[in-house]
Amino acid sequence: MADHDRIASAVAAAWSQNRDVTGGANADYIPALATVDPDLFGISVVTVTGDTINAGDANTEFAIESISKVFTMARAMDEIGSDAFHSQVGTDPTGLPFNSVMALALHGDKPMSALVNAGAMSSVSLIPADSTEDRWAKILAVQSAFAGRTIALSETINQSEQTTNAHNRGIAWLLKAAGYLYDDPVGVCDVYTRQCSTLITTADLATMGATLANDGVNPLTGARAVHGENVPHILAEMTMEGLYEASGDWAYTVGLPGKSGVGGGLMAVVPGRLAIAAFSPPLDSHGNSVRAQLAITQIAATLGLSLYRKPHEADGQNAGRESSIRLATAGRQK
Ligand code: GLN
Repeated sequence: MADHDRIASAVAAAWSQNRDVTGGANADYIPALATVDPDLFGISVVTVTGDTINAGDANTEFAIESISKVFTMARAMDEIGSDAFHSQVGTDPTGLPFNSVMALALHGDKPMSALVNAGAMSSVSLIPADSTEDRWAKILAVQSAFAGRTIALSETINQSEQTTNAHNRGIAWLLKAAGYLYDDPVGVCDVYTRQCSTLITTADLATMGATLANDGVNPLTGARAVHGENVPHILAEMTMEGLYEASGDWAYTVGLPGKSGVGGGLMAVVPGRLAIAAFSPPLDSHGNSVRAQLAITQIAATLGLSLYRKPHEADGQNAGRESSIRLATAGRQK
């Protein structure tokens, strides 16, 4: 079977076999997310040649949430260089929830990872800017470059988050006190909250991932979104922290760098080849979408995409692995 047909059949199967999965719940600490239809379920794959395959609600917009951290990290690293980024934010897993204050306390209030809330705010503050609006414009621009279309803020999500983000504001002030927030905490937390409140589809998200898979060049527009030399650093960080405390299980089971958001989105990147994105609002206890994890796990297994195996080996011979992987993933649902 041609590559397109094999991918399309894996995507269609993952959608139809997981659409009725129950379990998990919408995020409700951000009130606007609690009201999103929990039955929504979309999957997209975009390859480095720009081939796009969609299933289900692939053109329904949802809040990007923590997946935004990847693109802010990319912009900050492009601006200050990967060595400075390494020392000023840190690049290790925390092993604790994405908004953990204990994770900070354990490491002298250093964020450790750009993919937890603390490190994401640190990353925002490292993007050189004359004002909050200037910094926000740069972050919207990088999200748009990765997606290949103009990404916009949801006023509803942003309003909901800005009025309930006292915990993140507290983290911003702790970082400021410790010397890991490089600008005004109020403005930085404001921009961080906005960057989580933009709207994307799985088709956008797969394009964003495919841009990482394609060494930083968007396969649909041909425009560079991040320096190629920074892509391996970003993918390594996604491997270590992309699904928070479940990142290790995800690497063990799926073998691909991934990133989740509490809006229900999840992307996984196969360097040099493609990205898979899935969206469904109900989350497990770590804040990762239940159906999206199952769908991407199944597609990666069916197509033999783990980075930790010989490339392109045994395409289509992994069907028997799907049921055990499904069980392993289901074990994470609480
Ligand atoms: N905006 C959310 C927060 O700061 C993002 C969290 C997430 O997606 N894991 O809590």
